[in-house]
Amino acid sequence: MSGEMVQKSDFIRQIIQEDRQNGKRGGRVQTRFPPEPNGFLHIGHAKSICLNFGLGRDFDGPCFLRFDDTNPATEEEIFIRSIQEDVKWLGFDWGVNLRYASDYFEQIYQGAEKLITLGKAFVCDLSSDQMRELRGVPGTPGVNSPHRERSVEENLDLFRRMRAGEFADGSHTLRAKIDMASPNFNLRDPVLYRIKRDPHPRTGTTWVIYPMYDYAHALSDAIEGTTHSICTLEFEDHRPLYDWCLETLGFGERPQQIEFARLEVTYLLTSKRKLKELVETKVVSGWSDPRMPTLAGFRRRGVPPEALRDLCERVGVAKNAQSVEIELLDHCIRESLDSQAARVLVVQKPLRITLTNWPAEELRWIEAPLHPTKTEMGTRKMALARELVIEESDFMLEPAKKFFRLAPGKEVRLRYGPIIRCDEVEKNEAGEVVGLKCTFDPDSLDPSKEQRKVKGVIHWVARDHGVACEVRNYDRLFAAPNPANVEEGEDYRKNLNPKSLEVLTGLAEAHLGGVAEGVRLQFERMGYYVIEQSANGGGLIVNRTVTLRDSWAKEVAKD
Ligand code: ATP
Ligand code: MG
Repeated sequence: MSGEMVQKSDFIRQIIQEDRQNGKRGGRVQTRFPPEPNGFLHIGHAKSICLNFGLGRDFDGPCFLRFDDTNPATEEEIFIRSIQEDVKWLGFDWGVNLRYASDYFEQIYQGAEKLITLGKAFVCDLSSDQMRELRGVPGTPGVNSPHRERSVEENLDLFRRMRAGEFADGSHTLRAKIDMASPNFNLRDPVLYRIKRDPHPRTGTTWVIYPMYDYAHALSDAIEGTTHSICTLEFEDHRPLYDWCLETLGFGERPQQIEFARLEVTYLLTSKRKLKELVETKVVSGWSDPRMPTLAGFRRRGVPPEALRDLCERVGVAKNAQSVEIELLDHCIRESLDSQAARVLVVQKPLRITLTNWPAEELRWIEAPLHPTKTEMGTRKMALARELVIEESDFMLEPAKKFFRLAPGKEVRLRYGPIIRCDEVEKNEAGEVVGLKCTFDPDSLDPSKEQRKVKGVIHWVARDHGVACEVRNYDRLFAAPNPANVEEGEDYRKNLNPKSLEVLTGLAEAHLGGVAEGVRLQFERMGYYVIEQSANGGGLIVNRTVTLRDSWAKEVAKD
């Protein structure tokens, strides 16, 4: 047990600690993260991963990665691969404990035969519509299936023939015999098995019957030796069925199901179904589009995994629904990037500058630190020459009050470079500013001279010594804090942010010619970015991870 655990206590850790004190299950702790391989993992899953693997770490027990692959119609190999990649990226390791519910299909099937033998399950010929009709409504008991009283022999025979493929899809089901009058609908003779001829990503066409989620999940937990089966609150009503399956089958040391609140983050969707829809309708470029709240999307956007772990840690584990402000996520991202990202200069919307008093052929290399405090990160060399570019928005023809950057007759300092003064503005025929003629102050480049202070410091790049850079400024995919919240008949996609991506062609300082894909950087004054494609890997492309401050509130106000 690590010291960390003692400090952080939540209701789940308390339950586990009590269990251990009471010697329950020999003090053993075993958890699992059980995704259904029908999509990519999202930020909500990160919470479940951190919780389950965190419990394993803190209580020194294994945490399994188990694919709940019981619905071949929606499950795909690509999701199985992406989920493993994402769990690892988030920083967790299941070691040898990788399992699939399908590993247990035979045992799960044998469990079903046992339920039949015990008189606790029967084969039902009702269609799903008929079944729904007989299920009843809240407050009114349902009606027993006409097939409920079949003999054990007949049930066994029919169930075996279901397995053997004698019946059409949907024609028969195996149902638990519990209580059609139960106020809990999950106990009104729920379906345990259905016939489905979809090939399975792992078992191929071996099976034509598949166990339902609730039944398969309970059995997989028990077979595997899970001690604490942690799941989200919507499964609270399923717990009686979970317990019924394991009690009826006589599992000795039963896992305990514990529910916690899902993680929801404002402006982000955590519904796999909707995320899938965004991918399929090409609203985004794929599951790993940097605007997606998927782990693959965060990774491509340059979000460090520790920022997500930090968020999950801060949010903690609760029993009540929790919606977290996206600002907290952004804060975690900035905090983790601040210490690790090198600072560089990139001009996104270049405006040409000519230093008229700089000799045309002179090129000087200025050495500048890559991080303001972490000297161990080293330095890089920046080219300084007669032709430069600055950010278009750092110049104003008629400067507003408190605009301390460049304007006719005004001075600014170039970051790590000289102080320059704007002497002349060049315009095109349309009257637009296309370039500035400036002079630099030689003393401001001479470290032996006392340096004057000017109010503005701006970033810049030497025009002929920079690297062309495609800048992809990603913003929130949705413009509404609760994107899924729409009036009846409305589509949540009306909440999409029409400006979630801006693509610019900028100029990066020479240093970026040699930075590899995946490296996270701060573009001074602009934001944190990650290299999507390196300069020598086909041309420099960068993705914005997050702005430096919360520019969102300001931008909305401007619109
Ligand atoms: P589906 O509707 O496809 O079942 P799901 O989000 O429940 O979607 P699973 O693959 O079943 O997806 O989830 C794996 C695990 O992650 C489950 O234990 C589930 O409870 C947990 N989980 C899913 N969404 C969240 C969330 N928003 N917050 C915390 N845990 C979550
Ligand atoms: Mg689920």
